[in-house]
Amino acid sequence: MPDIIQLLPDSVANQIAAGEVIQRPASVVKELVENSIDAGATAVTINIKDSGRTLIQVIDNGKGMSPTDARMSFERHATSKIREANDLFAIRTMGFRGEALASIAGVADVELRSRQHGEELGTFIHILGSLIQKQEADHCAEGTNFSVKNLFFNIPARRKFLKSNSSELKYIITEVQRVALANPELAISLYHNNSVIFNLPSENVRKRIGSLFGKGINQNLIPVDTSTSLITISGFIGQPQSARKTLGEQFFFVNGRFMKHPFFNRAIQQAYDRILPPETYPSYFLYFEVDPSTIDINIHPTKTEIKFEDERSSWHIIHASVREAMGKFNLMPSIDFDQAGSIDIPIGPLRGSHIPEPEIRINPNFNPFDSERSPDRSFSGTSSYRENQNSDNWQALYRGFEREEVVDQVQSVTQWGGEEAVQQEIRNAGLTAENHNFLQFKNKYILTPVKSGMMVIDQRRAHERILYENFLQIIENHLTISQRQLFPARLELNAVDQEILLILDEELKALGFEIRKEEGDVFYVEGVPALLSHLNATDLVEKVIEDFKNRPVDVKEELKSHLALLLSNSSAINYGVALKSEEILELFNNLFACSNPIYSPSGKSIITIVSLSDFERLVK
Ligand code: ADP
Ligand code: MG
Repeated sequence: MPDIIQLLPDSVANQIAAGEVIQRPASVVKELVENSIDAGATAVTINIKDSGRTLIQVIDNGKGMSPTDARMSFERHATSKIREANDLFAIRTMGFRGEALASIAGVADVELRSRQHGEELGTFIHILGSLIQKQEADHCAEGTNFSVKNLFFNIPARRKFLKSNSSELKYIITEVQRVALANPELAISLYHNNSVIFNLPSENVRKRIGSLFGKGINQNLIPVDTSTSLITISGFIGQPQSARKTLGEQFFFVNGRFMKHPFFNRAIQQAYDRILPPETYPSYFLYFEVDPSTIDINIHPTKTEIKFEDERSSWHIIHASVREAMGKFNLMPSIDFDQAGSIDIPIGPLRGSHIPEPEIRINPNFNPFDSERSPDRSFSGTSSYRENQNSDNWQALYRGFEREEVVDQVQSVTQWGGEEAVQQEIRNAGLTAENHNFLQFKNKYILTPVKSGMMVIDQRRAHERILYENFLQIIENHLTISQRQLFPARLELNAVDQEILLILDEELKALGFEIRKEEGDVFYVEGVPALLSHLNATDLVEKVIEDFKNRPVDVKEELKSHLALLLSNSSAINYGVALKSEEILELFNNLFACSNPIYSPSGKSIITIVSLSDFERLVK
């Protein structure tokens, strides 16, 4: 038999490698910008055409490359960043695998212009599908300029695999947000089809967060600052009131690199335990500095998953620093660390051993939100919606609810022993209304005896929950029905917003929006989703654009839950309404048919259990 094994040609090997490193236009953006940072750039400009399908250009003012280096940079495993295996344990640069440029050049049409500082002339290289087409001296600017055109031109399957323009652009924006947050001192701008999306000057972390997510976020940020011999943590966490219903502003960076870390995420989530409304997520922007030899960034080609040598200890330090930061801002009961000030954990002997969690003493009477409670909030259910109806901001529309829900949660936890008891009771088999006696109390609560004590159901919140789940169903089926506007609302949009409108075009149409461009900057909203026709059409469109700008959200999901919340809030039965016994029974049965009977859609507790012992204490 003849031998059959051969070495693959470089061009094929590069295409295969690209499959790992370069998944979509956003990966190219990430790799090129990271290279600029490694080259010491202080300013980077990114130009995107057609969500990266046509062009991805990254221009930096970094140190540039010599003609030979420029040529070498496209070879696989060609890097200036490490020389020997040992260097792998001291990585301070973003890149080190020497794969990105080779991969990109394998699957695109790439032009490189680069000039080193102080050199008279730079270099121009044109490389297509790993093959050099041209190299010559060039009068380019100092620094480096990469143009990546027609990504995946030679892999039609991959090109077809790309998502819609709006999705690919979202990926790019997300990637740029991450680098921008990791490097606030770097001036960075992003253009899409010649319209500016970001144009950020060199600034500090706090300002950068504001530039990316809206100035409003600033007053919600709590600084975190902890220094231990294992890990140094700085950055910001969001106040509980600013928690969101959707994941989004959660960022970890380690040694200047964005990372995902579900285990550490849980440390944060747990630090917020019991002070966050259910199904909301805290914002955080946390920067870790560690000795590079204690982490492994090599476990994933895109380097977003990072292994920490001593994850347990780091977990506890992260958790404790977040609690400490909240404590300083009086969001938490007083916290006592075993040692005052910084927690010092020696790296050597403790490795792998158990670190006791700093002790946290809770003052059960402390309610951090006391000052925000309105004396008569129980009856404010619908009025707070009306008051805010004209607000120019979705978030503001719901902020009132969110605050109350936090208060409620703290209350229910401290007063009644909380969710555990309720869940236990719900798990108890035989919880069918037939076995129960009901009492409507003060036309506000429904009381019924259960195994462990007395179940108290808030009638309005229960009804809100039932309606919410029904409305979600209805919206799912009907949101796309468009209602023509008799008098189309006029809308004037600046260039950026026009660009976003264009990006969202498909999604908006699918939702039932019909928007016509007049001349200049003027647009007319001729149709809106029928279910939203009672709302101000201009506000609605502006809000959708704003939401997308601040955070590349899933517009449809966001809109659906906003809408269901709005509808259920405005149509649920109010307090003070007497219910007939059949109505109570129906409410009870429908509530327990819900996917989440415990919390109202805006996060307030529906059910509390007064335990028998609490009850006995009260009546003795
Ligand atoms: P890595 O970043 O892992 O070293 P890359 O393929 O991304 O591998 O880049 C290869 C080399 O090309 C880098 O090590 C660097 O020397 C050089 N290089 C890439 N981009 C730039 C840039 N923008 N400015 C200066 N040098 C660059
Ligand atoms: Mg690189």
